[in-house]
Amino acid sequence: MRMENGQIVGRFAPTPSGQMHLGNLFAGLLAWLSVRSQGGKMILRMEDLDAERCREAYADSIRRDLLWLGLDWDEETQPQSQRGEIYQRYFVGLKERGLLYPCYCTRSQLHAIGAPHSSDGTYVYPGTCRDLTPEAQGSFGRRPAWRVRVPDETVFFTDGVQGAYQENLLKDCGDFVVRRADGIFVYQLAVVVDDGLAGVSEVVRGADLLGSVARQMYLQRLFGFVKPEYYHIPMALAPDGRRLSKRDGDLSLAALRQKMPKEKLLGFLGFAAGLLPSSEAISVEELTKAFSWEKVARIAKENPEGLRLPPELIEV
Ligand code: GLU
Repeated sequence: MRMENGQIVGRFAPTPSGQMHLGNLFAGLLAWLSVRSQGGKMILRMEDLDAERCREAYADSIRRDLLWLGLDWDEETQPQSQRGEIYQRYFVGLKERGLLYPCYCTRSQLHAIGAPHSSDGTYVYPGTCRDLTPEAQGSFGRRPAWRVRVPDETVFFTDGVQGAYQENLLKDCGDFVVRRADGIFVYQLAVVVDDGLAGVSEVVRGADLLGSVARQMYLQRLFGFVKPEYYHIPMALAPDGRRLSKRDGDLSLAALRQKMPKEKLLGFLGFAAGLLPSSEAISVEELTKAFSWEKVARIAKENPEGLRLPPELIEV
C-alpha cells in the first residue's frame, strides 16, 4: 500500500533480547523483499522497551546479520527505550479524552480471570477497575497500570497473508494496558505511535502478532494515524515441525553464517516461503524479482501450522 504521498514504507522491528534466529529473520526478509520489490523505503527499529532483557550487543549483532545477507535499510529510527517522552504525549492525549483509567488489579487477580486472549496470553479484562471512585482509587496505596477503554465493536481487516480476520474489542480483548505500573509503556502503544509517526504503510511480522491488530487499529484511530497493510507470516518451523525458539542456537544467524554463503541461506528461506521452486542458492536481487505476496499467501494456506524449513538447512 502506498501512503498519500505515494511512498511505500516498510519496517523491521526486532526485539534485541537475543541473537537473531531464522524465525525472526523470516519476518525481516519478507518485509525487506516486499519493500524493495516496490521501490519503497525500509526502516529498522529496535524494540527495546524491556530494558532488562534487551542489550545493545544483540542490536549490533542483528544489524550485522541483516547486512551480511544484503538486507539494508534507509533509516534506523530511535530505539523505543529512548522515546518515553513521545509515548507520554500520546498517553496524556488519551487521558485527557477520558479514555484511560487506573487499574490496581494484582497479577494473581488477573490470572484468576482465566480467559486468556487467544493470541498473546493477556487476559480479557472484565472491567474490574473501570468505574472506581476517586476514593477507592486512593485506597490501594500503590501505583496503578493504565488501561484504555474499548467499545463493544468488531474490528474487521484483511491480512495480506492470512486473509479476512475479525475481533471484537470488548469481548476478545477487553480494556487493555497501555502503561504498566512501573511506568513502562507497552508494546501496543509504542508500536502504533512509532509506525504512525514514521509513515509506515506495511507491517510484516510473525503470525503470533495477528491478535494484536484489532487493538493496534483501535489506537491508530484514536491517534489519527493511517492504517497500514498487514502481512502476518506463519512461524518458521524446524523440519520436524517444532517451533523454533531462541534456544535453537544452531539456527541463529551467527552460527549459520559460519556454515554457508548467504546465497545458499537465501535459497533455503525463499523456498520455505514459497517464492522459489527449489532451494537452490540465489542472490538477494534474484530473490527480490521472485517475490510476491500471492506466493507467500498460497504456501501459508497450505501450511497453516507454520512454514517448515528444508531439512538440508539443518544438516549442513
Ligand atoms: N518486536 C516484535 C518482535 O520482535 C515485533 C513487533 C512488530 O513487528 O510489530 O517480535
